[in-house]
Amino acid sequence: MSKSEILFNHATTIIPGGVNSPVRAFKAVGGIPPFIQSAQGAWLIDVDHRRYIDYIGSWGPMIVGHAHPTVVAAVQEAMGRGASYGAPTEAEVHLAEKIIHMVPSIEMVRLVNSGTEATMSAVRLARAVTGRDSLLMFEGCYHGHGDAFLAKAGSGLATFGVPSSPGVPQATVAQTLTLPYNDLVAVQDLFNRHTAGIAAVIVEPVAGNMGCIPPEPGFLAGLAEVCRQHGTLLIFDEVMTGFRVAQGGAQELYGITPDLTTLGKIIGGGLPVGAYGGRKDLMQQIAPSGPVYQAGTLSGNPLATAAGLATLEIIAQPGFYETLDWRCQRLCDGVDQLLTDAAIAHTSTRVGSMFGLFFTDKQRLKNYDDAKTCDVDRFRRWFHGMLREGVFLAPSQFEAGFISMAHDDATIDATIEAASRVIKTL
Ligand SMILES: *Cc1c(COP(=O)(O)O)cnc(C)c1O
Repeated sequence: MSKSEILFNHATTIIPGGVNSPVRAFKAVGGIPPFIQSAQGAWLIDVDHRRYIDYIGSWGPMIVGHAHPTVVAAVQEAMGRGASYGAPTEAEVHLAEKIIHMVPSIEMVRLVNSGTEATMSAVRLARAVTGRDSLLMFEGCYHGHGDAFLAKAGSGLATFGVPSSPGVPQATVAQTLTLPYNDLVAVQDLFNRHTAGIAAVIVEPVAGNMGCIPPEPGFLAGLAEVCRQHGTLLIFDEVMTGFRVAQGGAQELYGITPDLTTLGKIIGGGLPVGAYGGRKDLMQQIAPSGPVYQAGTLSGNPLATAAGLATLEIIAQPGFYETLDWRCQRLCDGVDQLLTDAAIAHTSTRVGSMFGLFFTDKQRLKNYDDAKTCDVDRFRRWFHGMLREGVFLAPSQFEAGFISMAHDDATIDATIEAASRVIKTL
């Protein structure tokens, strides 16, 4: 038995499913997840000394590559000055300034500890300032594990959401409305029918939690317009897309100004951080400057702030995104061509350095129903084939992939070569 197997078997007896976040357990693809011992640049090394080219990047944060010397030095230096104080620090001010400078719509920002906290807090704020309770989200989008987001559409034409997980109160998700992604007409219809008013629309401006599904032209602008007409706040959940699809996130890429934005992943540089921000008049409603309560013992933590600041400094270097996008395009084009040559039905998607590969004959994927047409058995063979070749992809058809600045040409060539061997077995 491999050391990973021994660890996993033991872990399942003391940690639910053996993991601290569900998708890590390989349930969708079967098998045993490698236990990682260390990482460097584009590579992961497991406890059995196997090396993998990493396309998970901790599910998004590791955009500058693993153990980047600048980030490591910043965290080490911060740790030497103490891990946490429960009092404000200068570095938090610098990080807030950087976020405001980089993300177009953010005038004021609050740091939290995860993306989940950011989305929960942004929705609370939206409900507070609009005096309304309802929330609209889109099927297949993920906004963390807050109760309000664990909803799915009720049957028929019912507008009330129903819980998508046991333990979520019916009453909580009754206020959560869900519609298919990219369906602006359905959004307009819903707003016309919903006379009580909707507090907020929350959306992943590029969907990354049902594979990578970009917004259709006009979808985001249409949402902004509907929200404006109805006094509803538009929340861009940029936990994944922030600093990923462009320095200023999807809002910069598509030129849309949301009222509130949630961030996470990259701003922590691999440490636990989230943030939410937006218009000053809204953000000033947060305690202690306003009445909307939200707090955190470790929020603005010095180590996380140091890692975030160092990461944001690296991505602000000229040409960073051009290089990253070009490399990701080379990767996607390379694999796409091999699959086409092998006559394997697929659609590949990419926005910046975030990508998706769907084994489906649908040419254009717009929403979760489209994503669900995928051949998940073929995905399973693809995933395990690539893993055996030393390429670690996200272990589910319904997750996006990421590259980092450490994925140089040689790494990408090696990946395409591995793919050419695996595709013969699909
Ligand atoms: C990852 C993610 C979250 C949740 O962030 P956590 O830090 O895991 O709580 C929320 N929204 C989106 C779009 C995400 O990708």
